[in-house]
Amino acid sequence: MAVSGPRVLFPREEIASTVARLAAEISRDYHDKNPLLIGILKGSFVFMADLIRCLDFSLELDFIRLSSYGPGTETSGKVRVVQGLRTKFPGRHVLVVEDIIDTGATIAFLIEYLKKKNPASVKLCALLDKPSRRRTPVSIDYLGTTVPDRFIVGYGLDFDEKYRNLPDICVLEDGN
Ligand code: 5GP
Repeated sequence: MAVSGPRVLFPREEIASTVARLAAEISRDYHDKNPLLIGILKGSFVFMADLIRCLDFSLELDFIRLSSYGPGTETSGKVRVVQGLRTKFPGRHVLVVEDIIDTGATIAFLIEYLKKKNPASVKLCALLDKPSRRRTPVSIDYLGTTVPDRFIVGYGLDFDEKYRNLPDICVLEDGN
């Protein structure tokens, strides 16, 4: 892909109101459950940081690092755990916090992986969804917004490790 630079798709104000809306939905369902929020590294760390600061109840956090992408923009479809969870969670209510669902391969793998550890429940919160690319069905319990089939960067999302620090959600313009 020839890349010329990022263009803003969702400005930071819009992201903030989406995160606040998701936090209100999550609070309604989890305020008395002391849930374990599991973020998928690296992309979800900015979203997670903003989300938990809108949640005014007891919760715990952990992160898992999965790998399915090579150095480009296409998923390989094969997912593996690169860095595992430290928290034990049988009987706990688990909420997975993901930046973007694309083919669905990563999240389908993770949900199955977590269910084997006997949590009380596992639900999914995703900031962005690219439904046009889905290959594995995924049910998203708390969804920020859908995005077109474009490569998204910023707000934690990278292209070859760049652009994670952009405060807005952007698309990479291809230079053609
Ligand atoms: P999936 O397994 O659903 O195809 O891909 C999910 C993962 O791929 C996400 O966690 C994210 O890391 C990465 N990904 C998918 N689409 C995009 C995108 O448009 N931009 C970036 N930066 N990463 C993406």
